[in-house]
Amino acid sequence: MRIGAHVDQADPLAEAAARSAEAVQFFLSDPQGWKAPKPREDAARLRAAEVDLYVHAPYVINVATLNNRIRIPSRKLLLGHAAAAAEIGAKGLIVHGGHVNAGDDLAVGFDNWRKTFAYAADSGGFPVPVLIENTAGGENACARRLDALARLWDAVGDHEVGFCLDTCHAYAGGEELLDLVDRVKAITGRIDLVHANNSKGGFNSGQDRHDNLDGGTIDPDLVVAVIRAAGAPVIVETPGGAAGQGADIAFLRDKLGTGA
Ligand SMILES: [Zn+2]
Repeated sequence: MRIGAHVDQADPLAEAAARSAEAVQFFLSDPQGWKAPKPREDAARLRAAEVDLYVHAPYVINVATLNNRIRIPSRKLLLGHAAAAAEIGAKGLIVHGGHVNAGDDLAVGFDNWRKTFAYAADSGGFPVPVLIENTAGGENACARRLDALARLWDAVGDHEVGFCLDTCHAYAGGEELLDLVDRVKAITGRIDLVHANNSKGGFNSGQDRHDNLDGGTIDPDLVVAVIRAAGAPVIVETPGGAAGQGADIAFLRDKLGTGA
């Protein structure tokens, strides 16, 4: 089981070494911006690296929204990131489930997700696996709670779609972690990546505020149980830089008995 961290995009391999991480996730552009990713000078070095690479798409992306002025550029930015992620040999592109605005029909949001994959399929499909991540907040989210996730998967299930399970988002979003993996897999059939984070916010608080594994409001053993059940690679998106994340990675290796 590969365990790693979300790191700064400037030199991801140095960040991996600083944490003894076997995997890293990073952004390819400003996560709050709409700029397409620039080609990376270290692409060949990244492709050849033994560390597994994951790319997190910008937070501004929302392919579900009924607002054309957000949805159309979101789709384009997602495709641009998928191409750039493929260029560096990334194992997957993580993107949040998105939401529709208050008063808008969530069914249209799910159909917009379907159209995103159909649109990509027209040009040969996404060049890397796209992993949709569950989110913590909002009452009109596509992937906050499992009832919505089931509707999302009904819409996109004909395409090759991966899933990234974030433990902070699940808990703060109002899903108990006990047996969560079984309930998710009953819907998606797969979990491709676990974001192992504790939560500063309480259960069902809707707050997306990550904490180190031994901090926060979640029993860390529950996070470990989720990882064990998922059997997927793990990325911690926790505070504290190399020291904080390195400690979280060491904690997980110890609990999971994966040595190193
Ligand atoms: Zn996450």
